[in-house]
Amino acid sequence: MSIASIGQIIWVLGIVAWYFIRRPYERRAKRVEVVSNRRTASETIGLAAALAGLGIVPGFYVVTGIPSAADYPASAWAVAIGTLVFAAAMWVFRRTHKELGRNWSITLEIRDRHELISGGPYALVRHPMYTSFLLMGVGQAFLLSNWVMGFAGLVGFAILFFLRVDKEERMMLETFGPQYRAYMERTKRIIPFLY
Ligand code: SAH
Repeated sequence: MSIASIGQIIWVLGIVAWYFIRRPYERRAKRVEVVSNRRTASETIGLAAALAGLGIVPGFYVVTGIPSAADYPASAWAVAIGTLVFAAAMWVFRRTHKELGRNWSITLEIRDRHELISGGPYALVRHPMYTSFLLMGVGQAFLLSNWVMGFAGLVGFAILFFLRVDKEERMMLETFGPQYRAYMERTKRIIPFLY
């Protein structure tokens, strides 16, 4: 088996893990009442971009090999680094879900008896789930030896993140007021100590 195929198989296993981590929360979310929903057109575009760049585009590439013109020779080192980064992404992703619990949402929503979470990964950064998406994009770039796939995940992540983050913080400020302002003052957005 080629190194490129090994990288692709690991990417697929990573996406399967992503799905199973998220599934119980999505199911539970259906049973928790939403008090305020901010799903706008830009939210839909952001979610679609992230789904495309981190899922559909690389999935299509793994199945069809298209666009093969953008392939470059795979290296065992790159696949090893990609595996570690993707595994780290899934670990952070799982931690954020456990921590958010019933406050979890696919989009911008405030739920019945919504609590401000500031422990675990949320003590380091305000948006650790988006940190995990960034890590997924980096992992994908290392695992799939194709220039388009290297950019697709990161572009998809960036579109979702920049369309959403200001609105999310505004929504949290409106809901939690000074409590969220104080939380913002002691945390960065997605990269501990940096940004
Ligand atoms: N931006 C966070 C959460 C993404 S899920 C992260 O990257 O980890 C999006 C939902 O999480 C939003 O609808 C919002 O209601 C909720 N949320 C975001 N930050 C939160 C926090 N610190 N505590 C509780 N809920 C939060």
